Amino acid sequence: MSTYSDVVIVGGSVAATRAAEAARRHAPSLNVTVVSAEAHLPYERPPLSKLPLGEPVDLDELTYPAVLRLQEEGVKFALDTRADGLDIGAKQVSTNCGTIGYGALVIATGCEPILPPMLEGLPDVYVLRSYEDAVALRAAVAEPGRSVAVIGAGFIGGEFAATLVKEGHEVTLVDLAAKPLGRFGDAVADAYERLHLDNGVDLELGTGAVGTVGAGGSRSLELADGRLIPADVIVVGVGVRPSVAWLDGSGLTIENGIVCDETLRTGDGSVFAAGDAVRWPNPRYGETMRIEHWTTAADQGRIAGINAANSLLGGELKSCAPVPYFWSDQHGVRIQYAGHRTGAEQVVEHHDQDGSLYLYHSGDEAVAVLAFERRPVFVRLRAALRNGLSWEQAREIAGLGEPDRVASR
Ligand SMILES: Cc1cc2nc3c(=O)[nH]c(=O)nc-3n(C[C@H](O)[C@H](O)[C@H](O)COP(=O)(O)OP(=O)(O)OC[C@H]3O[C@@H](n4cnc5c(N)ncnc54)[C@H](O)[C@@H]3O)c2cc1C
Repeated sequence: MSTYSDVVIVGGSVAATRAAEAARRHAPSLNVTVVSAEAHLPYERPPLSKLPLGEPVDLDELTYPAVLRLQEEGVKFALDTRADGLDIGAKQVSTNCGTIGYGALVIATGCEPILPPMLEGLPDVYVLRSYEDAVALRAAVAEPGRSVAVIGAGFIGGEFAATLVKEGHEVTLVDLAAKPLGRFGDAVADAYERLHLDNGVDLELGTGAVGTVGAGGSRSLELADGRLIPADVIVVGVGVRPSVAWLDGSGLTIENGIVCDETLRTGDGSVFAAGDAVRWPNPRYGETMRIEHWTTAADQGRIAGINAANSLLGGELKSCAPVPYFWSDQHGVRIQYAGHRTGAEQVVEHHDQDGSLYLYHSGDEAVAVLAFERRPVFVRLRAALRNGLSWEQAREIAGLGEPDRVASR
């Protein structure tokens, strides 16, 4: 079967939803179709690692309300439909349900979790990306007394470990890195480690997992130094890779993501991309980036949707220049980061009874902020970073007195 839509959006998550919403609002005369491999309407992923284990994952509650409105307005959501090829010359996407022609295309196929080969095919090994993953993982840990090892102490691993320990599970968090979150400086890495230890998570840092030993109710994860960690259930959070295999042969440039210009355009001028799968030059920083966080995916979706519509209507294309931002909730603490650091900045930390603030500055310019709690001051600093923030202004907003402690570089 072959169909046509003015704007076709491939992907079924936040970037796709925002792209559909923006295209629809910007150009109501265009018809818009979202093609998603998932069986469900687009839903929020961030709660999947944070929701209490005792509560069922309610898909209706997680479904983006905008999606229901868009459906009423005539936006079509083709679910269970996986794109498997792109013919840019013919302006056609091929899928398991037939081909769909487009006037403008937005690619928002995001990322998929990486599973180390040594764990492939083993029972009770889980990743966490989709609703189905979350349901399967919850069922696996529901049985009392099962030991859980989480590989990867980044945000998803850390969040799920925090969720588990809060509900009485014993959990070991394993990471090859001696300092998880070390890219934000040693002080942040140390605070992150303390947060987990203080809340009862066992940490095994600086040593990788090399395989498993035993089976059934007495399986262990073997670490590179020979130690064994109880691991009836293994949760893998070692990172993700762009879901772009379906674009092989399309002629698009793929280098750690879909390579786009400042306006998120790629290919022949009628193809745009948004979300975790995109690598683009962020004009705010003059640097090429691929970001795996919700807010950037949403921002990019909105811009790609408007630009896709404008490419058909002859309007001007917008640049995509967000200040990167993420949040993570672990052990009742909200960790937030905004800005962009290269690693060469000075880091100044400030603690009070509400939490901790880490400010990154390069000479007279403040470039980023990371906070454990400290929500009101973080909100002000994040907003100020959008307009360019001097170090003096940042200090003033943060209420920093002399002397500060230089934490690290
Ligand atoms: C458990 C979890 C917790 C998170 N928590 C946070 C958080 O607290 N803060 C934060 O900033 N970020 C968080 N994130 C990251 C955030 O969810 C992602 O950055 C965001 O989902 C990226 O959106 P996306 O639209 O680019 O792609 P994705 O969410 O990866 O979605 C891609 C979509 O495209 C579909 N697709 C893929 N290939 C095809 C194809 N060939 N044809 C059709 N459809 C296809 C997929 O099925 C999927 O629906 C979390 C992620 C997870 C998994």
